[in-house]
Amino acid sequence: MRIVFIGPPGAGKGTQCRRLSAHYTIPHLSTGEMLRKASRDTPVGRVVGAYIDNGQLAPDPLVMRIVRKRLQRNDCRRGSLFDGFPRTVIQSELLDEHLSAMGQKVDIVLDLQVKEAELVERLLARAEVEGRDDDTAETIQRRLHVFRTQTAPVLDYYAGRGLIEQIDGQRTADEVFDEICDRIDTRLRNQEPG
Ligand code: AMP
Repeated sequence: MRIVFIGPPGAGKGTQCRRLSAHYTIPHLSTGEMLRKASRDTPVGRVVGAYIDNGQLAPDPLVMRIVRKRLQRNDCRRGSLFDGFPRTVIQSELLDEHLSAMGQKVDIVLDLQVKEAELVERLLARAEVEGRDDDTAETIQRRLHVFRTQTAPVLDYYAGRGLIEQIDGQRTADEVFDEICDRIDTRLRNQEPG
């Protein structure tokens, strides 16, 4: 099973993905985490770090290279949970191409919805706890803008394929988790032959 998890920054994707990854025993592939790790130690890493710090998207070819490499590992045979990827329509198309060459596909796309005012509040609170460099008031606005302009079209892309499940993210983490599991289980049941 391949799940794409889409939501604006601060919607709670990371928290939900960690739980879902354990519950369904599929690897959690967070491009944000991968890019943050690649950061700083190498010339490419320093360039990537600059994109992250500015709240802009890293270039598609670079992101695709990292994802393709990760998908080659054995643990991805059973499935994968994509967190924060794809973030552009081009990434969605390239992911589809890559998966279809392996006889695989995206099975479900979770669209985690939270109002912008609440996102800003949550991100500023996270800044105090985690100290992420890209959780400043200015960068948060830029990341929300990037989401609206570059990532929201990804939802249209998948909606056209009937893959979207909209989830109300303005509830407790437990409630959101239960609802997501229900939606996934229903899709899985409907996929089973007979
Ligand atoms: P995240 O941890 O998902 O909030 O991502 C943090 C930052 O990493 C983003 O603001 C982007 O700069 C970069 N990033 C993460 N995923 C992608 C992606 N799929 N495409 C481009 N840039 C990304």
